[in-house]
Parts: sequence; structure tokens; C-alpha cells
Amino acid sequence: MAFLDPGDPVELSSATRAGFRARYGADAALVARAPGRVNLIGEHTDYNAGLCLPVALPHATYAAVARRADDRVRVASLEADDTWEGTIAGAGPGGATGWAAYAAGVLWAMREAGHDVPGVDVLVHGTVPLGAGLSSSAALECSVAVAVAALTGRELDLETRRALVPLCMRAESEVAGAPTGGMDQTVALLAEPGTALLLDFGDDSNRAVPLGLEDAELTLLVTDTRVSHALHDGGYGDRRAECEAAAAALGVASLREAELSAVEALDDDLLRRRARHIVTENDRVAATVTALGEGDWNAVGRLLLASHVSMRDDFEISCDELDTVVTTAVEAGALGSRMTGGGFGGSAVSLVPLARLDAVMRAVDTAFVAAGFRPPAHLQVDPAARAELVP
Ligand code: ADP
Ligand code: MG
Repeated sequence: MAFLDPGDPVELSSATRAGFRARYGADAALVARAPGRVNLIGEHTDYNAGLCLPVALPHATYAAVARRADDRVRVASLEADDTWEGTIAGAGPGGATGWAAYAAGVLWAMREAGHDVPGVDVLVHGTVPLGAGLSSSAALECSVAVAVAALTGRELDLETRRALVPLCMRAESEVAGAPTGGMDQTVALLAEPGTALLLDFGDDSNRAVPLGLEDAELTLLVTDTRVSHALHDGGYGDRRAECEAAAAALGVASLREAELSAVEALDDDLLRRRARHIVTENDRVAATVTALGEGDWNAVGRLLLASHVSMRDDFEISCDELDTVVTTAVEAGALGSRMTGGGFGGSAVSLVPLARLDAVMRAVDTAFVAAGFRPPAHLQVDPAARAELVP
């Protein structure tokens, strides 16, 4: 059974410092970490002014940085063979490419926003699986942003954290060329341990929602199907465009304002189904928060499953591997399960009684073998903390 350990933060921080020393022949000034995330419910709602409920993973990316005497940037990763070097001004759109677009792009966006960003050497390393729908991209951006903000003496207060969200988004959207709605960066910079973060993109507010998984003897199981999604590849962009078209057909500024009755009356079958997913998904997020408040875990499980069906049938972003995880997990005792993240591959999240955890993982592995899929990887998730400097 493939099980992805988050790793020990002290050891990972040391390994990141050692990697920095090996690459640049000098010591890093500091190390910051930023978590990946799993979205409990509320998918593709962020760019529709809607609701979502992500959780920070214990799996994180660590960024070691040191100031340079000149205005240049060098970025390297223990997870990538290629490196990038250039000026901060040259790290913008069309400048930094490949994985470096996320890392160096943040420095460009921070400089563009008027932050004092010196030339830096950066080395990153972490345990968030790449391209698994668990937001290694935002973990990378936010680890670099927090490290560089700290390097320039900025206090990591709420104001700084909030200010960094759109800059990390800008690196991803404009430099890496992957449109992103902001959920990933927000949870990476703001999440509190033991909680999910309810994000409302209608008014940009957010609040922590206590989960109490441990008391209920439940856990979150994330299963990476290892089917690689590619945000650049159209699927995500197509859905965004379809949502915009549906909002235009309904005469509303965003699908957050659409009424289900009006959606059901849309002539265009495709736009109707896309809009119906968004409108019902927002309702499911709100219902999940209510059910969590009441400790009604069975209701939470049913909502997760209903969300999956909506993404599979109306939004059409699932795949055979994700459907197999969901069906098998529930059959083996999960209270609920759904695909999570942008879709077209990536991961599923299941709400599992601790006593059934092993049985669920084994059942999924067996089902994957039977279907001829690549073996999946499992992550057990205790809702973790936001990006921080590593002492
Ligand atoms: P996800 O965010 O779901 O993992 P994305 O496609 O948004 O998937 O981002 C994955 C990309 O982010 C990788 O292909 C790589 O370019 C970059 N990336 C993330 N973490 C790292 C890392 N530690 N080292 C190098 N590149 C990384
Ligand atoms: Mg991403």
C-alpha cells in the first residue's frame, strides 16, 4: 500500500537547508513552509464568487532563501532537475518558465505590488505530491512568498498574509499561465490547525470551521489516483468559460447570484448542467458547515457524495479512477467520498471512521488492481496549519 507520509518538519527543514548549501555553497538565511490543501467541498466555486471549504494538509513545501548582493534570482528544487536564473524584473510573464514560473513569478508579483524584494537564492523541497490536485503549486508560491517577506523584515501578521494571496495568485495565473481562483493560496496562508476554512468569494470573507474529527473517531483519507491533471490543458479553462457563458445567459454578474429555478429553465443543456453544479454546490457547502456544527457526520458524508455525483454528471470533471475511489471507499465503510481539486484526475477525499481506515485503503487498492489502474497513493490528513517561518 502506497502511503505518503507528511515527513517531520524539523527533518524536512534541515534537508532543505542542506540542499541549499549543496546547491549554492552558502547557508540559507531562513526557511519557511507552506501546506498543500484538500478541498472538503465546494469545487470550481471560487471563480464563481461562491463558497468552498478547504483544509490545510500536514504535507508542505519548504523554501530556504538567502539575500544576494545583486538583483538576480536563482531558484532550484529538490523535486525538479531544472533551475532558473534571471532578474526579478525578468521573472514575469514570458520570463520564468516551467516550475520556476511559480517560484520566481511570486518575486516578480511582489516587486510589481511595491514590496521591497531583494535579489535572492531559493531552494525548495517538500512532500506535497505534484499535480495531484492537492495544490503543490500554491504551497510552492506561498512558501517562497512567506520566506521572502520574512527576509525583508515583514511581520507575518494577518495583513501581510492577506496581501500575499493575490500576489501568489498572480504568479500562477500570469506567469505560470494556469488560471486559479484563489482558494489554494488563501487556505495555504490562512488556515488554522484542526479546522477547515470556509471561504466566501462573494465578499472575500473567510472563517475557521472546527472539525472535531478526532472526537468523532473519524479521519480524512486523501487518495491520489496518480492520474495527472493539467490545468493548462483546457478542461479547467473550458469550465470557467462555460460558467461565464451561463452567468451571461442568466443575466447575472456571477453564478453565485443565480436561482436554481432560473438555471433549470436554461435552454442550453450544457450550460444548464454547468450552472446547476455551481448553484447546488454552494448550497452543499453551506449545508456541510451546518451539519459540522451539529456534529451530524452522516449528513456530511451524504453531502460529499452528492457533490461527487454533481461533478461527475453535471460538471463532467471526474474520471474512471476517481469514480472508482468514491464508490469503493463508500462500499468499504467511508461515510462519504468525492473527487477534490480541479478534476480530470488528481485526488479524492473520503470521510472515514478510524476503525475502517485500513479496510478502505485496501479495498481501493484492490479495486484499482482489478480495473488495471496504476496503484494509487494514500494520505491521511489531520487538518494542519498555514504557512509559517520554520524556527
Ligand atoms: P497541483 O497544484 O494540484 O499540485 P499544479 O499543476 O497546479 O498541480 O501544480 C504542479 C506544478 O507545480 C508542478 O508541475 C511543478 O511545476 C510545480 N511545483 C510544485 N511543487 C514543486 C516543487 N516542490 N518543486 C518544483 N516544482 C514544483
Ligand atoms: Mg495547483
